Amino acid sequence: MKPTLVLVGRPNVGKSTLFNRLTKSRAALVHDLPGLTRDRHYGHGRVGDKPFLVVDTGGFEPVADTGILAEMAKQTLQAVDEGDVIIFLVDGRTGLAPQDKIIAERLRRTGRPLFLAVNKAEGMARDSVVAEFHELGLGEPVAISGAHGEGVRELIELALAPF
Ligand code: GDP
Ligand code: MG
Repeated sequence: MKPTLVLVGRPNVGKSTLFNRLTKSRAALVHDLPGLTRDRHYGHGRVGDKPFLVVDTGGFEPVADTGILAEMAKQTLQAVDEGDVIIFLVDGRTGLAPQDKIIAERLRRTGRPLFLAVNKAEGMARDSVVAEFHELGLGEPVAISGAHGEGVRELIELALAPF
């Protein structure tokens, strides 16, 4: 069985861009406006000799104006539950957001293996871009650029190491 990687994070952090890079397809819409990905999108990826399934989620995008739980569509939590490894994406350009802390806590409670990826890190000093994200308590963040491909292979190899 191929392991399933699930991409989660708040809107606009770059989940769909990374999904497209990993699947080399246009199966997930990528757009400047948040809120386009309403469902789970599945794709096939491969790094080295390891094939995997990857899931792009949109469930943390706001669907109501009350509380973070309202923003967690069932689809996203279901994808997390069904996944083997969770990749939690944050945005290295906007920096740590209050929502990131809430999502981190919710993901931690699932008990799933969790990797923190600081996206949009191209052209930025690695140490300074990841520094503030240590606060999330999810281990050493991996700096990546989904758009440019930097760090992506390393991230996936790390996430797939047990498989
Ligand atoms: P999603 O809402 O998490 O799926 O985010 P998208 O993949 O739709 O990307 C949101 C915005 O961030 C788009 O304007 C992307 O072009 C941009 N973006 C995604 N990845 C990167 C990256 O690695 N670097 C930069 N600079 N921008 C990115
Ligand atoms: Mg998206």
